[in-house]
Amino acid sequence: MKAKVAINGYGTIGKRVADAVSMQDDMEIAGVVKTRPSFEARVALDKGYGLFVPSKENAADFEKQGMEVSGTLDELLGDSDIVVDATPGDVGAEYRKLYEKHGIKAIWQGGEEHEVAGFSFNSEANYDAALGREHARVVSCNTTGLVRVLYALDRQFGVEKARVTVMRRSADPNDIKTGPINAIVPDPISLPSHHGPDVKTVLPGINITTVAVKLSTTLMPLHALNVKLGKDCGAEDVVKTFKSRPRLRLVSGKDRVKSTAEAMELAKDLGRPRGDMWENVIWKDSIAIDDGELYFFQAIHQESDVVPENVDAIRAMLELESDGARSILKTNAALGIKK
Ligand code: NAD
Repeated sequence: MKAKVAINGYGTIGKRVADAVSMQDDMEIAGVVKTRPSFEARVALDKGYGLFVPSKENAADFEKQGMEVSGTLDELLGDSDIVVDATPGDVGAEYRKLYEKHGIKAIWQGGEEHEVAGFSFNSEANYDAALGREHARVVSCNTTGLVRVLYALDRQFGVEKARVTVMRRSADPNDIKTGPINAIVPDPISLPSHHGPDVKTVLPGINITTVAVKLSTTLMPLHALNVKLGKDCGAEDVVKTFKSRPRLRLVSGKDRVKSTAEAMELAKDLGRPRGDMWENVIWKDSIAIDDGELYFFQAIHQESDVVPENVDAIRAMLELESDGARSILKTNAALGIKK
């Protein structure tokens, strides 16, 4: 029997998690919750996902548009093993009581505070600690990207201090409401940014300071990392370490991947659904050791890097697989992530 997964909040993250779940052989979508009729709701129905609404009053709007509603969120929760909450930041926390009332396991996203679940998740860093848990938060896109590389570096060389500049995208590509259109915005102005403390919710031992700016781009954030390692090593040792990890993709300027635009084009050429790039994109030729410190650039596809982590979190919390490395490989294989 496949585990039944409910998706509450079917937007950028929710629809991707729904598709990734349906590609696994040990879980399936019990239904997805939409607040308003939209093209996304119509596509969800076409894909065979049952469409649910937060409350009965929302159903009439869908029915007017000829979209069949399968029931309410309450009913969906009663018929599911776990809920992935992908509602907008801070909305998810409001659902905690309802999930508790149903005694259903719940996964929130990075727009919520760590406290919503009391446990923040990354597949490689703390799968074991998620086994059988009731609640977890999959950390945000940037934090996931940072945790993946810092975890790898810390295991291999020890991380004494990480200094990171996060160059954020201003909005997702489908967002027509957010700017800036022509500015670089220190975000926040008062330093450091929240990304460092967020990394520590998963890797408490990492000494990290982050600053962030928002740019007029929607494709991918870019991270510039400077890491003081505990052991002497060369750039080739770092390349080898990154190559050995399951969700790090090395690219090269020599292959004409010179920007986030080309990194996104690569994802499309790989035939990825929606042109998603689930892995960190690390420029191999940026990896340098200078005065004993490591420097490199990576780009993160904010719309999709947290998606495989949600699948692994489901597997861990429902104890469908006790070994984190095996879950990661299973998720990767189902999605088509090849090294
Ligand atoms: P989104 O706005 O694209 O999607 C949210 C969906 O939830 C929308 O379909 C919206 O209609 C629906 N919704 C709104 N209120 C609701 C309610 N009360 N009940 C049920 N559904 C409701 O948002 P998103 O970008 O998918 O973000 C979801 C979460 O994932 C947030 O916590 C966000 O911080 C996090 N996240 C987003 C990104 C990203 O780049 N988009 C990356 C990583 C994590």
